[in-house]
Amino acid sequence: MLLPELRRKVCDLHIELPNNHLVAWTSGNISGRDPESGLIVIKPSGLLFEELTPESMVVVDANGTVVEGTLKASSDTASHCYIYRHMPHVNGIVHTHSRYATAFAVLGREIPCVTTAMGDEFGGSIPCGGFALIGGEEIGKVVVDTLAGSRSPSCLLQNHGVFATGKNAQSAVKAAVMTEDNAAIVWTALQIGTPLPLAQTDIDRLYDRYQNVYGQ
Ligand code: 13P
Repeated sequence: MLLPELRRKVCDLHIELPNNHLVAWTSGNISGRDPESGLIVIKPSGLLFEELTPESMVVVDANGTVVEGTLKASSDTASHCYIYRHMPHVNGIVHTHSRYATAFAVLGREIPCVTTAMGDEFGGSIPCGGFALIGGEEIGKVVVDTLAGSRSPSCLLQNHGVFATGKNAQSAVKAAVMTEDNAAIVWTALQIGTPLPLAQTDIDRLYDRYQNVYGQ
């Protein structure tokens, strides 16, 4: 079996989506790219998260052609592959319809950078791209265009949901979790008033510290 370790990692990370309340039923998907071979491990389409196994993951090449797997790959495979082809530093992608972030996406609104946690993680607002239909690589194109020129690892897709990226699948899951957490905070704040803006110089300093100094 190809890429047993990456299959296990991508499979195990999927349970973090329901655990963090980011998905309902079978919505959402995760993929990871093996930096050496360029092959991508992705969720099979429409399976319940608790049914996923390392063996049920699908391995595709950079163009989405199945290299190994007996099940149909995720409906978003072509878009994941488009993102990987155009963002060489990205080796993990997560898609969700998480509730608060998708509420912003339904309005076609970015999530403004009004918490220190957003300054840390996203270095600015979480942008919202335009609408694209599922099935081909159109969603991937919107994600690549929307993330260009932004420090944010994740973006919203109008009327749809969230795409989060990372240096590996776990980083992309973290970005998806932080996207939803901050969307919920900003949404809640909007119910009781007008969020106070953060100065760009403070956002820059927060981002720099968190990316370069924070943690071990
Ligand atoms: P898949 O089960 O095919 O990955 O579809 C889930 C989804 O959310 C599509 O946008």
